[in-house]
Amino acid sequence: MIRHITFLSFFFILLVSCGQTKFVGYEPSNMSTILPEPVEGAFAQNVILLVGDGMGLSQITAGLYSNGNKLALEQFKNIGLHKNYAYNDLITDSAAGATAFSCGIKTYNGAIGVGPDTLGRYTILEEAEDRGYLTGMVTSSTIVHATPASFIAHNESRRNYEEIALDFLKTDIDLFIGGGNKFFARRTDEKNITEKLKAKGYYMSNYFDEELTDIDVKAHKKIGYLTADADPLSVEQGRTYLPVAAKKALEFMEHHCTEDQGYFLMIEGAQIDWGGHANKGNYIVSEMIDFDKVIDIVLEYTKQHPETLVIVTADHETGGLAINKGSTMNNLDMKFTSDYHTGDLVPVFSAGPQSDLFLGFYQNTDIYHKMRTAFGWLKDSKI
Ligand code: MG
Ligand code: ZN
Repeated sequence: MIRHITFLSFFFILLVSCGQTKFVGYEPSNMSTILPEPVEGAFAQNVILLVGDGMGLSQITAGLYSNGNKLALEQFKNIGLHKNYAYNDLITDSAAGATAFSCGIKTYNGAIGVGPDTLGRYTILEEAEDRGYLTGMVTSSTIVHATPASFIAHNESRRNYEEIALDFLKTDIDLFIGGGNKFFARRTDEKNITEKLKAKGYYMSNYFDEELTDIDVKAHKKIGYLTADADPLSVEQGRTYLPVAAKKALEFMEHHCTEDQGYFLMIEGAQIDWGGHANKGNYIVSEMIDFDKVIDIVLEYTKQHPETLVIVTADHETGGLAINKGSTMNNLDMKFTSDYHTGDLVPVFSAGPQSDLFLGFYQNTDIYHKMRTAFGWLKDSKI
């Protein structure tokens, strides 16, 4: 009998541990250190925009409880909400969602840095370049995927990856890290964009030639690092580079920017969205925690560099995720209403100079205008 019970309870524990989400929790650093108060009226020298693709409140909640009820994100005091519908659809995609952030316009789903008329619009990253700021983008998708593409390219369709890669030759972005090597170096038109970027002065590297950790970001003024041939792996499959890339990007910006030349940096946690499309709770949680590690790194940086405005938001929610009755903190019952995006409002977290602009309720396009205001660019508009 006892042997039976032991056997049964062993079996039970095995069952529970299979069904239960087990995550190697991470400890956010210095949660007790308060973020610096912005100096009244001072503009932001640097703006860091962190986009958790598909990160609605349920994704944040799931990440929070699965990480032992602690996220670096909790340090933010300023919280707002944005309306993320697209020009032609109440349910936005990531292209229209990112173009709202990058150009300040509502456009159709699939549009990359273009308006409803398919004509290109000036992006905040291009304007930052023109004004002499440093610029950078880091993502856990390909670098030509909808979110980063909308800041640097102009295309009527998000699916034209090779054309989007060509647009990297038209701007002077200083640092980019993400997947998609094949769209640069193994193209159907046999152009080699990697070689062309090298000729433009970029230090180009990739996952099969060099570890990201081995790159001396202080030694190169322009860097492109491709983390995968196509889409990068998920965290569950072993991807670890996003927090490393965030550190590298900050080190790069800090070293190369000057007193009167700030920077614009966009970092994307791209695969929270992919977990939502797949309706996989563990996928969402592992990507959410990974993205929070990036938030932790950025917040620790801003504690030392209070001239930096940090914004954390999403383009939309993905999956219609809910955390259901019967859930415990260690075992969430996560259910989905969709395998696509939903129309939920999404939160905006902000800290640093001009972060009060991001309080309240506004359009996704206002994030663009607020970032420009925060930089102090409204005084001498170049548009
Ligand atoms: Mg994305
Ligand atoms: Zn999506």
